[in-house]
Amino acid sequence: MKNLRGVLLRIDDIGKPESLNNTAIYELCKAGYKVTCAVVPLWLSQETIDFLLYCARSFPGTLEIHQHGYTHINHGDSYHKYEYGSGRSLQEQENTIREGKAILQQAFGDLFFPAFTPPYGEYDENTLQALAREGFPIMSTFADVESNGIILDVAPTIDCFEWDPPREWPWEAVAYRWQRGSRDSLEGLILHPRLMSEESLQAYLFGIPKIIGAAETVHFREIVSEHNRRDKQDRQVI
Ligand SMILES: [Zn+2]
Repeated sequence: MKNLRGVLLRIDDIGKPESLNNTAIYELCKAGYKVTCAVVPLWLSQETIDFLLYCARSFPGTLEIHQHGYTHINHGDSYHKYEYGSGRSLQEQENTIREGKAILQQAFGDLFFPAFTPPYGEYDENTLQALAREGFPIMSTFADVESNGIILDVAPTIDCFEWDPPREWPWEAVAYRWQRGSRDSLEGLILHPRLMSEESLQAYLFGIPKIIGAAETVHFREIVSEHNRRDKQDRQVI
């Protein structure tokens, strides 16, 4: 995304008790990385809420919670998967987005920031309208996406998972790709720890500090304020 810098560490599919998710979040926060957790409202367990609040208390400023759909149920088919998209009315989308947001606000208070990562990266015009109406300033689908004209859309540059067949990239492949990337725009990693092998996750946690400094990492909250600041500046120049 033009003009925006920083590294975004997005950890997806948070909600159900999953020890590998917890390991990743705990270790990254402990090392001072800012991580943003994409939480599925209807997956949330009390155990997960307690764990995330514990991390936030232990390592202040490192954890951000944002919304990852509502149920994460696929309303499409096996070729075109989506929770939000065609065939789902604006009202239906808006109601579920609103309910999900309320669940996360209730559970996490100020740790929650209204960013929306749609499951499977899919959405349609109704989703954009619903998000705008519900006060979401930012969404996160794919790094190379064109502007949708309604909501700022930024995503980490590397999804560390392949979906067909589902498997994580070996850490060496991620590190190689990272080192070949440019450092002058927003970058980042999308992690799915619950789907990784323990060994592979450990390789990631060992490798990340070698290529990414904790001070480089940002939350959606900061991306939005930086974007707004530059927007205002641009308007003043014009
Ligand atoms: Zn997901």
